[in-house]
Amino acid sequence: MSERVAIFDTTLRDGEQSPGCSMNLEEKLRMARQLESLGVDVLEAGFPIASEDDFAAVREVARTCRRPVIAALCRTTPEDIERSWEALADAARPRIHTFIATSDIHLQYKLQKTREEVLEMSRRAVRLAKSFTTDVEFSAEDATRSDLDYLCEVIEAVIDEGATVVNIPDTVGYTIPAEYTKIIETLRNRVRNIDRAVISVHCHNDLGLAVANSLAAIAAGARQIECTINGIGERAGNASLEELVMAMRVRRDLMPYETGVVTEEIFRSSQTLSNITGVLVQPNKAIVGKNAFAHEAGIHQHGVLRNRLTYEIMTPESVGVKTNSIVLGKHSGRHALGKRYEEMGYALSRPELDKAYKLFTKLADQKKEIFEEDLVAILQDGFAQIPERYKLRALQATAGTATLATSLVTLLDTAEDREMTETSAGDGPVNSVIEAIDKITGLRGSLLDYTVRAITRGTDAVGEVFVHVEFDGTSYTGKAASTDIVDGSARAYLNAVNKACYARARARNAA
Ligand SMILES: [Zn+2]
Repeated sequence: MSERVAIFDTTLRDGEQSPGCSMNLEEKLRMARQLESLGVDVLEAGFPIASEDDFAAVREVARTCRRPVIAALCRTTPEDIERSWEALADAARPRIHTFIATSDIHLQYKLQKTREEVLEMSRRAVRLAKSFTTDVEFSAEDATRSDLDYLCEVIEAVIDEGATVVNIPDTVGYTIPAEYTKIIETLRNRVRNIDRAVISVHCHNDLGLAVANSLAAIAAGARQIECTINGIGERAGNASLEELVMAMRVRRDLMPYETGVVTEEIFRSSQTLSNITGVLVQPNKAIVGKNAFAHEAGIHQHGVLRNRLTYEIMTPESVGVKTNSIVLGKHSGRHALGKRYEEMGYALSRPELDKAYKLFTKLADQKKEIFEEDLVAILQDGFAQIPERYKLRALQATAGTATLATSLVTLLDTAEDREMTETSAGDGPVNSVIEAIDKITGLRGSLLDYTVRAITRGTDAVGEVFVHVEFDGTSYTGKAASTDIVDGSARAYLNAVNKACYARARARNAA
């Protein structure tokens, strides 16, 4: 019988802290639901004291996702711990995750505390957390650069206070597998009560070793891994969930560990995250990159055609990558569409299906063959998660080598129920469309990032446009899918505008 390793997902906490990966409440909930389908054991939903938004995210994720343990991060102060417990109040399986640094460099410069003081703060934090819930995780931040004797002392003390999970993070991505192995082994040999807690690891990828270090720790006796989808996270990111899970699955002969992850949901989870954040996965990324299963060299293709095992150590299907085939066409009915979505794992309500069908027929008029990724794009584009203050009513743009690009844009302002039209001239059609939109809304956005990619094949492909736009110092992501780049750009930009309007309205309501 192989042993179970718990997968602790921190995409919504550590991952969300990385540049360009911030998510609003609706987006976090969508990601959380996908992580629940993926089968993670623990879902770290946020750092409640950090902001009202983080607090709300933890509370709503706890209300929505009932199967996984929901963890909330907090420092060791009573206010932090109480706030995280408040956010977890409705969770079916709550976990308080408290942390403090144990390395001398952090003690001296960040905390300005002595080792004795930090030891006492750790004890008190776990004791208080334990008065709220039985499931308490303690993290010794920067553990891999901490004095090992002191680390053992702190870990033993917090287990005495009732910590059920002790996390030994490589916060700065500094350790290497052999050293990490030694640290975990030392804890297991020297901490008297270590068998009363699960050892957890949390690795950062500054040297590209996060996955290797995590696997080394598992071999040394750790039984929980903290990781993120697509490896997002602070700086170079966290250990990537998909790589860890598939490494253990493919090399079960050498790493006989089970996880609860439904591997067929991996690709969808990766896509959902990219789609929400607009941060695309590099093409050569292991497991989920666009080229991860592409065989380019003729000799490889030849081998794979005879027997896939010649060059494939796992099948694309095992991580949920579908071999693309045409799924539907212009004459497919609503019933067929609903059934197809069901097979893809999306259960749509009646009104949702009606809406999807409307978008589907519109798309089927523009392109002959509808692929599965088109259907996903319909859901992602058509089901805006936020109220739309502005809707695109009409758009006309001209461009060419001989003329200045000009555009004419008509928007419906849903708050005032009136249509407004503006014209603009600019460097290119996208630029002039954005200027016309700004004239109407009165908001001035500055475009930080702009990406277009084809999500389906052929010259009639659907393109997906991602933008990062800053309004008054806050950046928002916007996205849209369309067969027309200018139309897609306008919609993506409007998506960001609508998010900014929504955030402002919420801030006004909260004040
Ligand atoms: Zn981290």
